[in-house]
Amino acid sequence: MRIILLGPPGSGKGTQAQRLVQRYGIVQLSTGEMLRAAVAAGTPVGLRAKDIMASGGLVPDEVVVGVIAERIEQPDAKKGFILDGFPRTVPQAEALDALLKQKHMKLDAVIELRVNESALLQRVETRVAEMLARGEEVRVDDTPEVLTKRLATYRSLTEPLIHYYSERRKLLTVDGMMTIEQVTREIARILAAIGAVDGAPAKRAPGRRGGKGTPQKAVRRGTRSSTAGKASAKKAAKAARKAGKRPAKVAKKVVRKAGRKAARKAAKKVTKRRANA
Ligand code: AMP
Repeated sequence: MRIILLGPPGSGKGTQAQRLVQRYGIVQLSTGEMLRAAVAAGTPVGLRAKDIMASGGLVPDEVVVGVIAERIEQPDAKKGFILDGFPRTVPQAEALDALLKQKHMKLDAVIELRVNESALLQRVETRVAEMLARGEEVRVDDTPEVLTKRLATYRSLTEPLIHYYSERRKLLTVDGMMTIEQVTREIARILAAIGAVDGAPAKRAPGRRGGKGTPQKAVRRGTRSSTAGKASAKKAAKAARKAGKRPAKVAKKVVRKAGRKAARKAAKKVTKRRANA
């Protein structure tokens, strides 16, 4: 699975990327982290990036593209990756397209975390307070002044990517104002629905249900109503993958059928019980 997390600073990309890493066992590729490491190590890339990062600007495209191109080559990225903070400009997105094409890799989805700008400053302040409490060094660009600049940079240079990926039918938007747990669950649901992961159902939110006919409801209905349905859905998804079809779609059908079967069985039981009463 290869996905991009897109969103302004403080939208939760890093937090969600870490949770997805744990859930799916793929790596998080954060250009911000890589650049901070380069600055700390004093490498040529770090020396070029240091002042730009401190002021809230963007490091030149060719520098970050070079960093990502190298990183994607590493063995741990073969299984898939979550790009966090890259691409940040249209030329970076074009370079990524070319890179993936050259390596015969496919991008599954771009997940946009949509948030209210007014909440971002508060979030970053919370992040700073938490880092200080843990005794960690605070980022030099996590100040209200630099954050304002980073937001302006996002609006002018990164936001056009929403249009770029929506045109290419890759964009999926998630409400980033929900709780961390809810956002993770929603991303997992989306990934299962598009078949980026093995149709694995997201853990159910207490009291939350999907809309009529949504993949979310179909998957959940299957897990609740029948274990047999779940097993055959898994089998069907496997067969679909072999046949080059979309496993989530096929699994959904099977789960629906199994759900109907279970409902008929339950109704029969009730009739029998009533007749005996
Ligand atoms: P982040 O940790 O993603 O908030 O990134 C911190 C800083 O690193 C940004 O404000 C930029 O200066 C720089 N940076 C990270 N990723 C990129 C990128 N894809 N393109 C240009 N600059 C970047």
